[in-house]
Amino acid sequence: MTDKTGTRRHAEIAGAGIGGLTTAAALAQRGWSVTVHERAPNLRTFGAGIYIWSNGLRVLKAIGAYDQAVVGAHVGPQFHTRDHDNTTMEEIPINGQGDARLITILREQLINSLVDTCRRSGVEILTNSEAVGATPEGELLLADGTRRKADLVVGADGINSKLRDSLDLMMYRKHLGYGAIRMLIGRDDADVPAEDRDRYIEYFTGTRRILYTPASATDLYVALCCAADDAAALKVPADRALWTQSFPHLAHLVSRFGDAGRWDAFEVVKLKKWSKGRTAILGDAAHAMPPYLGQGGGCALMNGLGLAAAVADAPDIEQALAAWEERERPITEHTQDTAERLGDMNFWPDELRSEVMKITGKSRELGAERMKTARYQPTATEPLA
Ligand SMILES: Cc1cc2nc3c(=O)[nH]c(=O)nc-3n(C[C@H](O)[C@H](O)[C@H](O)COP(=O)(O)OP(=O)(O)OC[C@H]3O[C@@H](n4cnc5c(N)ncnc54)[C@H](O)[C@@H]3O)c2cc1C
Repeated sequence: MTDKTGTRRHAEIAGAGIGGLTTAAALAQRGWSVTVHERAPNLRTFGAGIYIWSNGLRVLKAIGAYDQAVVGAHVGPQFHTRDHDNTTMEEIPINGQGDARLITILREQLINSLVDTCRRSGVEILTNSEAVGATPEGELLLADGTRRKADLVVGADGINSKLRDSLDLMMYRKHLGYGAIRMLIGRDDADVPAEDRDRYIEYFTGTRRILYTPASATDLYVALCCAADDAAALKVPADRALWTQSFPHLAHLVSRFGDAGRWDAFEVVKLKKWSKGRTAILGDAAHAMPPYLGQGGGCALMNGLGLAAAVADAPDIEQALAAWEERERPITEHTQDTAERLGDMNFWPDELRSEVMKITGKSRELGAERMKTARYQPTATEPLA
């Protein structure tokens, strides 16, 4: 794509995470020249799994990353939530005829598939390159003092986004008082009964949760969730005696926890606007959410592709960014708000949560609300075969 003077249009992007890489690939595929700046010395991510629903899979397909991303993925038959007695409160069918699709993979595999797609599409990726701000006129400011001019600047630099803050775009950032330790371990048949092995299962006890997620034939992704002031539970390495006491039915699994793990607090970020002038903000920088729907990355994928489609041939970038926000923000905010509400029950007494979830789990209306993002057809995508 060229501008009025016939020059090829150029984008500068801060952050080589899910949002930045998706935007970069989609812009390059529309004829733009694109440079991505990643602060870290390499493009590796930490050891954890990730849920990708139909909406995210459609985006991966549209940018040509799908085939690599899904190699060896785990495709579970249901998602279960279990109460303190290990009784099923809800069973969400997935991957059947007419159901939403869901796969789980390693985060590293998702990032690698996006990096390779970017490289095939001609994107330049610079590591050890830290962005510190941007201007509405379309300049990316780097830590080494360089100012890089572009038709479009994108801040996909995560929840602590420097680009967002340099443009004074924050409406609010809310700490939800809860978070998770994520880790990867090998799968072991003795962890759960045979009928549960391939399921995705979230176990609740008191204010703690354990999320059991097969992420390949050999990898198990485990998330240990607890209140942000539950000092004993959020310690890394995880305290095996404490987690066994809360989840005696998972004693074998807990005994296998390794020493590695990463704690992240859950937060919500909402912006006054998703752009200022020629600079757009997306991903966790613009719309972070708690992970109860497994859709933070899904929204980064959708909004990255949606942004590229909006500006691709647009005569006026500012107007295109306003139209992009108008189109994409409602489904993103629906996802954020639904996810935030799902966290309310973390602090309910066990018996109450169990009774309520057994009832709400049967509500078609609530189920449809929860699955709305998964079933959504993102901009510039085709239905999955
Ligand atoms: C516990 C937990 C579980 C989750 N599970 C899921 C799930 O199953 N499915 C799902 O879809 N989502 C999930 N999410 C959400 C998902 O991880 C995020 O929404 C997603 O990673 C956001 O991508 P991003 O590209 O916006 O930001 P990030 O992944 O944070 O990437 C930002 C990138 O920018 C780089 N960077 C930062 N600052 C700078 C700078 N100044 N200059 C240059 N580079 C910079 C960083 O190094 C990083 O590479 C989960 C989140 C949590 C906390």
